[in-house]
Amino acid sequence: MEILLIIIIVIALLAAFFLRQTGRAEQGRAGIPLDARVVYSDTGAWARLEKPLFSRRYQLTGKPDYIVEDETGATIPVEVKPSRTARQPRHSDTMQLMAYGILVEEKFGRRPAYGLLKYRDEVFRIEFTDALRAELFAILEDMRRARRAKNVARSHAEAVKCRYCGYREACEERLE
Ligand code: SF4
Repeated sequence: MEILLIIIIVIALLAAFFLRQTGRAEQGRAGIPLDARVVYSDTGAWARLEKPLFSRRYQLTGKPDYIVEDETGATIPVEVKPSRTARQPRHSDTMQLMAYGILVEEKFGRRPAYGLLKYRDEVFRIEFTDALRAELFAILEDMRRARRAKNVARSHAEAVKCRYCGYREACEERLE
């Protein structure tokens, strides 16, 4: 009986060790510091978040890939773009992460100081400065205004998107 108990305990310990190692490997691949604790992930490796985060105050919603607790106990969002390669974070990705920062703040009641943006080969730490926050709110306000407007001029910020756009034939504002 005693031997059976010991075997069960050893198997349980081995299973716990294996799960921990698998989790750490996944965490490393995602660019999350190994000393950070994953609170939730949207990738299926950890428990899925059932609903997107939502802020009534800012009328904002979204689902970061991960939310982790770092070594200081701060809760931070992590966004992973596995196929993106760049030396600098894209502005649109930075703003997306900032929006997740606001959502995390709304959900957990504490403003995260930064978020992590993982590209294929790099992990960028994006500081959630007051200036970045203000820029996001300005963009949100522009979007709200555009939604209320009857006509909105197309953005040509990314010419390559225009070149391959599915509406190209019908669009009078396409780039030549
Ligand atoms: S073709 Fe028109 S809708 Fe498409 S990206 Fe260009 S401007 Fe925008």
